[in-house]
Amino acid sequence: MSDLPHNKLFFNLLSLASGPAAKDNMINDFSASISQIYGVDKVEIKEADDESALEIIRHISGTRKPYVDNNLSEYSLFSSLISYNDKGYRSYAAVPIMNDGKIISIVEMLSKTENKFTEEATEAIANAATLFGLVISYKSERQRSAKLAEYFDAVFNDNNPQMLVTFSGVIAKANKAAMNEFHMFQNAKIDEILGINYEQLAQYVGRGQSTIPIRVDGSTLTYAIIAEKAGNSLTYLSLKNNTEISLLKAAKESIEKSDYAVIVFTDLNYNISAATSNCETMLGYREDMLIGKNIADLVQEKKRKEFEMVLFSKSTQQIKGRTELTSLTGYPINMRFYVSGMPQGFALLFVNSDAEKYVEGLKDSLQDFLNNASELVIKTDEAGRITYCNMAAESMLRFSISDLIGKEIKLIYKDPSIIDRDIGYARSSSKPDNTYVDLLKKDGTIVPGTQSTRLFRDSDGNIEFVIVIKELLTKRIMEMYEQDLLKNAKEMKDMKNMSDLKSQFIYNISHELKTPLTNINGFSKLLYSGDFGELNEDQKQYIKTIADEANRLMLIIQQVLDASKLEASKVKLDMKEVDMNMFKDNPSIVSLREAAAEKGLTLDWKVDYNVPAITADPNRLIQIFVNLIGNSIKFTSKGGITVHIFKASNRKIQCDVKDTGIGINEEDRRKLFKKFYQVQKGLVKQDGAGTGLGLSITKELIRLHGGDISIKSEVGKGSTFSVTLPIKPRRKKRQQ
Ligand code: ADP
Repeated sequence: MSDLPHNKLFFNLLSLASGPAAKDNMINDFSASISQIYGVDKVEIKEADDESALEIIRHISGTRKPYVDNNLSEYSLFSSLISYNDKGYRSYAAVPIMNDGKIISIVEMLSKTENKFTEEATEAIANAATLFGLVISYKSERQRSAKLAEYFDAVFNDNNPQMLVTFSGVIAKANKAAMNEFHMFQNAKIDEILGINYEQLAQYVGRGQSTIPIRVDGSTLTYAIIAEKAGNSLTYLSLKNNTEISLLKAAKESIEKSDYAVIVFTDLNYNISAATSNCETMLGYREDMLIGKNIADLVQEKKRKEFEMVLFSKSTQQIKGRTELTSLTGYPINMRFYVSGMPQGFALLFVNSDAEKYVEGLKDSLQDFLNNASELVIKTDEAGRITYCNMAAESMLRFSISDLIGKEIKLIYKDPSIIDRDIGYARSSSKPDNTYVDLLKKDGTIVPGTQSTRLFRDSDGNIEFVIVIKELLTKRIMEMYEQDLLKNAKEMKDMKNMSDLKSQFIYNISHELKTPLTNINGFSKLLYSGDFGELNEDQKQYIKTIADEANRLMLIIQQVLDASKLEASKVKLDMKEVDMNMFKDNPSIVSLREAAAEKGLTLDWKVDYNVPAITADPNRLIQIFVNLIGNSIKFTSKGGITVHIFKASNRKIQCDVKDTGIGINEEDRRKLFKKFYQVQKGLVKQDGAGTGLGLSITKELIRLHGGDISIKSEVGKGSTFSVTLPIKPRRKKRQQ
């Protein structure tokens, strides 16, 4: 657990729980904490017997896990969730508050934003709720704080130091990382550990991330600090070793192993605060002899003025120069030095000038490497005359090295203007890479290649150019194909972008349409209720028509939204354990049964005894059933509809939705799942205009689950839609 919001919730909880507050206040503070930290629109804690959440509580008691629905819709599993959807909420999470294995209450959280509750956040809140349950159930203070201490260690076990500080500046609690990094003991004072007192610390509260220097093990390190109030009396601190400094530390470690360089850290007045330990082997000073000394005191008397002048000329960001350091034995040592500014001081790197000899040595091995390389490496002077080339000149171009040295480089190109151009680029400090060239061999034949050109300065500051050339044979043909492929790919991509744009547009528009429609619907219901004045029968009839039409429009918009979301692959399934028996009493299915009854039709729901629970998105399953059963009711005038669910094999179940309606002929059956397809426009009209999207959405949703749908039908007798669903979907499908 490293995220600040989660930690903050725990700290709020800790301070809340360690106070003597009454249970009711605690509950209020707890919900306030959650809504503030997670930006949730509504938080309520409901007792285990609360009528309005009974279904949910029963469900959670069964699973013992939080229940999350990040896309509230009219197809939601529980009736309380449908009513939240009506009120404009889009995400819902309920987590249990448990004690002794029993649910004592639940926390209900609601947000108007879709997909609000990430798994991580829900888990953190669930943990917090468990702790909370534990706290409010403990009677004695002592028992309670012992439990809290255990909890702290379990929760704050990440790698960064974290602590809780009281307003008297005592560290009330620190995690293991803090204890180890700062060698802390219980109840330490904050100023002894971090070197700042409580008032100074308070200034960081709520400021986001700031930087402070802290002395650790004799070195001053910078830390990123985040401070937040935790409840009324505690401050929460999270510290993180600054990357820059960690890097310096790493550099320090590698320098310490060498015997030609040292690093010395100073404060802003160049007084030494730390140094690499090899100062002892190189200069004779132990680190503790250096601390507090001014850096200039290490420089040979006669060089001191010059050294200070360089240091204080803060004209460039990085200052460098040469000087002589005094060793304890009195011998001067020639050094190159580099100074880097840091927030609270300087780091000075001294490199023994003798080390330059090593560099010379390195050059020889570089030469070996170049000679054996398969690339042709050529060096020219500023005028373009060859001053060096490697052995590849012979293998690639059949020139001997002595053929080329002193000649113009243009000689080896079919089109000399290319090298002029690349050298021009290199001169204006760009880096021409992989330009195509045709090279002339000694016998006049041509070798295709690519080259990179760079400008360098030799030790005297003269300009020289290095050109590295790779031979190409088949590459060019490959490139031609590649170009073609790229062109095709780009066309494909353009088409996809267009289509994405279109889906996004439809999605946005549909979303926008929903808000005014909700108002039309809501207000016409209000008027219809008569609370704003009695209506006569005609008026009532008109307003009912407005409400009905608004409802139907809403359904259509929802379908368009779903279709565009599916097209843009934006539908995410929220997979859960689903018992197929529980849909029978689902509000959406119940209202379909009523609609069927109004037409004199029956609606039966049969689940075989051996059908196991499956893993699926329950809300999407309801949507699938509502579509299929809704169609059946629409196209059936006598008889009834049966839903029969049975185990089709060890891996899947099958749901048959069977009606005794008008049936569908073979040709239509084949086209049915295409978008916007309607069999007989005239027929559809009488029951309200459809969009022809229902079945294509249904099929997509089933496919997302890893299932399939098929039809059997006989014109005049009826249709059966068969949906198969895997009992456990394969992993890949689950992540969609
Ligand atoms: P819509 O949203 O317009 O109802 P659907 O994709 O759900 O579109 O259905 C497309 C067409 O398939 C319907 O217009 C209807 O002609 C036909 N259809 C669907 N279900 C049935 C059924 N159970 N019996 C007869 N025809 C059906």
